[in-house]
Amino acid sequence: MSEIKKQRQQLLTQIKIAEQSAKKPANSVTLLAVSKTWPAEILRQAAEAGQTCFGENYLQEALIKINALSDLDLEWHFIGPLQSNKTKEAAENFDWIHSVGRDKIVQRLAKQRPLHLPPLNICIQVNIDNETSKSGADAQQVLLLAKQIAQQERLSLRGLMIIPTPTTDIVQQRISFQQAHALFTDLAARYPSVDTLSMGMSGDMALAIAEGSTLVRIGTALFGQRTASAN
Ligand SMILES: *Cc1c(COP(=O)(O)O)cnc(C)c1O
Repeated sequence: MSEIKKQRQQLLTQIKIAEQSAKKPANSVTLLAVSKTWPAEILRQAAEAGQTCFGENYLQEALIKINALSDLDLEWHFIGPLQSNKTKEAAENFDWIHSVGRDKIVQRLAKQRPLHLPPLNICIQVNIDNETSKSGADAQQVLLLAKQIAQQERLSLRGLMIIPTPTTDIVQQRISFQQAHALFTDLAARYPSVDTLSMGMSGDMALAIAEGSTLVRIGTALFGQRTASAN
């Protein structure tokens, strides 16, 4: 068995345990494989192990892999910062964008999503800890931005993504996750298309699921340590 297959099965087991202790249905949490810095052959190994959805952070790097793996039926999620000069390629090549934080990006993606493709799935990135250095919408902007996305025929509003401040303080981590979950619950009550809370990475997956995550973005625990320079 390949190392990736082993790691993936371990992760799926951990997810199942976290689902059970959170009293959530089995398979209600999606494992998104975050494959930044890894070459297409490595992603192919993950696909052979059963992985279908992949998250990428850098557009040019992702396009090479999307192209190289076009013989497979994969779902591509863009999770990195999205500049407005990159929205067209993102709208043409991805199935999901998790990192939408402002209206300008919404307008561009809606205009640039090709008509032959289904609506582009959108998560609003929320700057849950109000970090000045981090992109994403403030919690107060979420409803307005959601309204703008929901008005677009070429976009489908699916939920929220959060990247909390890195911390070893479990209490602080839990508070951030709970705030995100409260925002998500409010949004889901207003928009029936909202079903995704993209929250949790290799280091905090179980806690994120306990606090209501529906999709965990996992890089290191699946593929191994990325080289520092390409982090
Ligand atoms: C790199 C990255 C991840 C994965 O992080 P790991 O700690 O390697 O699991 C998840 N989400 C985003 C937005 C990332 O950039």
